[in-house]
Amino acid sequence: MAIVRAICFIACAVVATSTTAADAPYDLVLRNARIVDGTGSPWYRADIGVRGDTIARIAPAITDAATRVIDLGGHVAAPGFIDLHTHAIRGIFQVPTADNYVRQGVTTIMEGPDGGSPVPLKPFLDKLAALQKSLNVGSFLGQGSVRAAVIGLIDRPATAGEIDRMRALVLQGMRDGAFGLSTGLFYVPGIFTPLAEVVELQKVVAPWRGLHTSHMRNEAAGVLDSVKETIAIGEQGGVPTQVSHHKIIGKSYWGRSVDTLKLIDEARARGVDATIDQYPYTASATSVQAALLPPWALEGGHKQTVERLKDAALRAKIKTAIADSIRNERGGGDAHNVALSQCEWDRSLAGKTLAEVTRARGMEPTPDNAAETTMWIVEQGGCRGVFHAMNEQDLQRILVHPATMIASDGEVPIFGQGAPHPRSYGTFVRVLAVYVREKKLLTLEDAVRKMSSYPAARIGLSDRGILRPGMKADITVFDPATVRDAATFEKPHQYAMGFPYVIVNGQIVYENGAMTAARPGRVLYGPAKSE
Ligand SMILES: [Zn+2]
Repeated sequence: MAIVRAICFIACAVVATSTTAADAPYDLVLRNARIVDGTGSPWYRADIGVRGDTIARIAPAITDAATRVIDLGGHVAAPGFIDLHTHAIRGIFQVPTADNYVRQGVTTIMEGPDGGSPVPLKPFLDKLAALQKSLNVGSFLGQGSVRAAVIGLIDRPATAGEIDRMRALVLQGMRDGAFGLSTGLFYVPGIFTPLAEVVELQKVVAPWRGLHTSHMRNEAAGVLDSVKETIAIGEQGGVPTQVSHHKIIGKSYWGRSVDTLKLIDEARARGVDATIDQYPYTASATSVQAALLPPWALEGGHKQTVERLKDAALRAKIKTAIADSIRNERGGGDAHNVALSQCEWDRSLAGKTLAEVTRARGMEPTPDNAAETTMWIVEQGGCRGVFHAMNEQDLQRILVHPATMIASDGEVPIFGQGAPHPRSYGTFVRVLAVYVREKKLLTLEDAVRKMSSYPAARIGLSDRGILRPGMKADITVFDPATVRDAATFEKPHQYAMGFPYVIVNGQIVYENGAMTAARPGRVLYGPAKSE
């Protein structure tokens, strides 16, 4: 009797104190969740108790009172998605709510991909820290930007002294909080960097196992050599290495993902920590000049490119190279497959194809004439473009590979402005809607793993990416039966649907169709951050 009374005393005390919100054991309880925990394990039903910014408890039933209780009615609760490859610097300071990401369940985004980042990194991270934002942001340091700071946009090897200076900048970037050193060996000036130089810089990052992500030197004719190079950077530099936005560009090369994935498998089998990320679209997006002009024409920067176009002989040479690129590589065989997404000097061009612009200038849209138009575009100041030059079989083969994770390569669009690639609005939800629900190529659990625990582990985020007590409460709630991407190439400015709640650091940032006033997003710092 005495024991029973003692139990009752404790239980009753809890009930008594939990009636006032201020004393509630949890700030937030999510009831009736179908938990997809991020590890790839099969889902289970449970309740989640959140205290402060942390998941305090996950149990079959949490009946304690809480400041707020939400019945999820069997919707999926998953870890907030982590996007390792974004260009959020384009837009995050104008749209710190990053609606396009949050509304598809993304709670952490990484900047500094493709070899490009601010150098030094600290002022950028400080500015991000001061920003009242909805989601978490971290950054890589960009090798191309480091090289530009020391050598410029010039095609020549680095001297020993320059390598020392670049190594010092890389070390500083890691101390500032970078998660690793990205490369963009496709772009100027990354393209002028020999493998050995990249390796020397990665060795600086190696003690912390900072992640190397690469926009590879070539994703078309040279894609196999480029995957080998990406693997070699990891193997020789002593860092984990990742093929960014893996794709096969150009009809002549379609199908080569069979061999690229074999290279990754072989590398992993011998102990190289090589992985992949991908966005689920058969079109890419970058600047028209980087996509279609030969790299030598871009050396030194925009002014020098325009100077070269004034030289008749060089212009002819550049035109031939562009026409070839339209026929066989990024142009997808036809000027209709290139769409302009943003031209600062004439916003009305956004959404028009290279073929349409060529016709408007009085020419048939043949590859040669489209090359003329391309040079004219470069002379006006250049544009960003969307390039339809991949195929669905490669996309699916890469997607289902166990070492592939999902990353958008997107940005934070100003809603309604320009005609950006829909990946910024739809990457994660498109995987859930098309490749999990419709095509059944991935299980829901595996797709979520590719969006949460896998990218988290990749950059050493030990407190995010899994739904488990003690982890930060970044939680995405969605209905797997109705989630869908609405953004298309024709109408990109459309938010994802099917996410009733998104929670960042314990606070609800998106609820039933609207962003809330909460701005709990933080800057995340890499493993070498010095206080
Ligand atoms: Zn890229």
